[in-house]
Amino acid sequence: MDPDQRLRELAVRHAAFAWLDRQRAAGKEVFSQNDTSELSLAGETVRLMPTQQGIWKPGHLAAALSIRTVYRPEGTDRPYDDAVGADGFYRYKMRGDDPGHYQNRALREAMTARLPLIWWLGVQGGGYSALYPVHLVDEEPVALQFVVDIDAVPQTDIVWPAADLELDPAYRQQLTRIRLHQRPFRAAVLRAYRTSCAICSFRHGDLLDAAHIHEDSAGGRPVITNGLTLCKMHHAAYDRKILGITPSHEVRVNAAVLEEVDGPMLRHGIQEFHGKRLMVLPERRSQHPDSELLEARYQAFLDAS
Ligand SMILES: [Zn+2]
Repeated sequence: MDPDQRLRELAVRHAAFAWLDRQRAAGKEVFSQNDTSELSLAGETVRLMPTQQGIWKPGHLAAALSIRTVYRPEGTDRPYDDAVGADGFYRYKMRGDDPGHYQNRALREAMTARLPLIWWLGVQGGGYSALYPVHLVDEEPVALQFVVDIDAVPQTDIVWPAADLELDPAYRQQLTRIRLHQRPFRAAVLRAYRTSCAICSFRHGDLLDAAHIHEDSAGGRPVITNGLTLCKMHHAAYDRKILGITPSHEVRVNAAVLEEVDGPMLRHGIQEFHGKRLMVLPERRSQHPDSELLEARYQAFLDAS
């Protein structure tokens, strides 16, 4: 790839990542075809997501810009087995069984030119969450797959075309810590709760978490019914057992904390929610928190009180 083309490829990618950063900063976590079409990026009209197949290369680019994995509930067969290998890297299946297929060649082009891509991950309930930047670091033609590094450190030889498009370093650092399975979970849970804290209905996406009811460190699964959208404060209070949630969705505050006298944050942020019901729940009943998981977690709260 000649240097001019590589710069063009990088310009589009960097503009796409900056666009995604802005969307995320505004609280958007799940994207559709429509959201990501007809974007004006680096002087081109660009679509960021494949329409049909899993691999997308815009016409004016030489290398693939994005890959996509559809959502499949746990336990069902995946059309492509994109799994993590023993080396910790993810695998992305090639299109068909010919490594020379034009879409596979477009991926190879991104790999050899060391161009970052977007990985669209299907989310429970519809839409896609964006994982970026990811790099293809190797291919395994016999197994018909590419090796994907989702934690790649930005490469020093990449000189970004415009300084004002620089990715927020804190966000980039945060990206490197995000595990693949967590991003669709966060996106799906925030979407189910309409980007609002279940306890207080606070709506600023940057300050919301997808909390696990059965903690993931204890084997809790990344599914909506094991999740609650909580603001940072209520997430911390829930994890520290300062407050609990009953299986019938009532908030309870630890008795000692209820007696404490402190400033307005404690009074309005914690104590006043004692005895209140959750303010936000998913519209679909099938997405409501699992009552057995709530029960177990509420018991742990009572035991700690
Ligand atoms: Zn809250």
